[in-house]
Amino acid sequence: MSSSSIFCKNVPYTFQDASLLDVRSYVGGGWENSSENKTFAVEDPADQQILANVSDSSVADYERAIDIANTAFKAYRQLTPSNRGQLLRNWAQAVRESSRDLAALCTLELGKPINESIKAVAYAASCLDWFANLADQGCGGETIPSSGNGGRNRIWTVRRPVGVVCAITPWNSPYSGVLKKIAPALAVGCTIVHKPAPETPLCAMALAKTCQRAGFPAGVYNVLASSPGRAAVVGSLFCSHPSVRHVTFTGSTAVGRYLAERCGANLKKITMELGGNAAFIVFDDADLDLAVRELIACKFNSSGQVCIYANRVLVHKGIEKAFTDRLLVAIQERVRLGSPWDDKVTLGPLYAKAGADKIEALRADALAKGASLHTPDVYEDGSTYYPPTVMTRITQEMRISHEEIFGPLVAISTFDKEEEAVSLANSVDTGLAGYVFTQNISRLFRVAEELQAGMVGAQTGSISAIEQPFGGVRDSGMGREGSIHALEEYTDIKSITLAL
Ligand code: NAD
Repeated sequence: MSSSSIFCKNVPYTFQDASLLDVRSYVGGGWENSSENKTFAVEDPADQQILANVSDSSVADYERAIDIANTAFKAYRQLTPSNRGQLLRNWAQAVRESSRDLAALCTLELGKPINESIKAVAYAASCLDWFANLADQGCGGETIPSSGNGGRNRIWTVRRPVGVVCAITPWNSPYSGVLKKIAPALAVGCTIVHKPAPETPLCAMALAKTCQRAGFPAGVYNVLASSPGRAAVVGSLFCSHPSVRHVTFTGSTAVGRYLAERCGANLKKITMELGGNAAFIVFDDADLDLAVRELIACKFNSSGQVCIYANRVLVHKGIEKAFTDRLLVAIQERVRLGSPWDDKVTLGPLYAKAGADKIEALRADALAKGASLHTPDVYEDGSTYYPPTVMTRITQEMRISHEEIFGPLVAISTFDKEEEAVSLANSVDTGLAGYVFTQNISRLFRVAEELQAGMVGAQTGSISAIEQPFGGVRDSGMGREGSIHALEEYTDIKSITLAL
């Protein structure tokens, strides 16, 4: 039974702290309904029932939030680095104190298996701690030797927060995916207006509750959700409002391109974390057990709905059968499809039926063009649950070789020579992540360096530690989240010349 009246149906979890649940927007340090008094429905992907009706913020609401963030910036930027570090540390603590409830919300809205959700919340808190430590250190600067004025000039640099940052985030990582954007901006003194994905607004509002409890000044972080139909107008506002200095976006390449064009016209800074199509390359000298284990991790967690996860599995032709056989055994042993509330389940539903429809279309296209299917379970039309699926004989003519699967389908093709593997891996327009498995250390370095991707896993499928620069090249976007480089995104360099 639900512990709160925000839910439109019974939910299989009792919230310890119902005050964490809110369907309103968080603006200027308070909670408010949309000025138009409209709401939109959020679904539980596990049963496709309406979970809650959430306030549908209007463009005017976002405009007001930007003005509030702009006013808050003037005081927030003056806090000392350690003041800001302490606020971020408080936020981490508040997230930890609500970790069970936050995890449950993630499972409710996203269908993420509960054990994965618990880990996701712990990781989110650790992201806040990591940026708290960076905030303490401040942004630093440099002194530059100068020949000007007969060698008497002195030049030094300081980094200044850019001002109001507008953030747009997707549904697939509603805590750490958001905090990787928000925390570095807050660390350097920026203020924020955030539009979360319409699929996961309750997670966003609960996260904002923990931010409020951490003691951030009013107006520093503002979160407003709105229905899918409003996304484009809200995006246009973010890209054109004179007070907004930076737009940070995570989502599809098509939307990122649209936003980047508009920000370009208005000369706003951008961070774009866009779609991926990672190649997972396995050479014939690879440790197959290792490669299979790592593929399971970067294919089936979060139901495969992670931008950096393996999309195209490229296996040396000499080991195709051995690799596929081991993979099938491992899936049978380790991947269990079912209710995300069952703690033995490792594969929950997809975020929405649209996700399953896309995978089905890619599977059908591949089968029609000659691919082989190795797994017995078939997708039941209309469901959000997609069974673990393995296909071989994938060729370049198939859509699956060029489009993001974003789900638990493994598409295997073969190569002969190293150059062919690299060329196939680099044959797509995106360049977010890549993976390589070989026991030949020279080849490992060579291929890792040749892959056109922002992030490469060499002998590992885990490549998203908070200290690592996270981001892509080419159509996967620009800018980096995580790592010390995230601070650069949200600051401008000012150089000061002193004539002695
Ligand atoms: P999406 O681009 O449709 O939506 C992402 C966000 O943008 C949502 O908040 C949505 O409401 C908003 N949006 C949609 N249209 C908009 C518009 N015209 N103007 C402004 N905002 C708009 O993406 P999605 O399908 O929800 O998410 C999956 C995609 O995100 C995949 O392509 C995935 O690879 C990508 N992704 C990338 C990363 C990364 O770090 N590179 C991380 C997660 C997801």
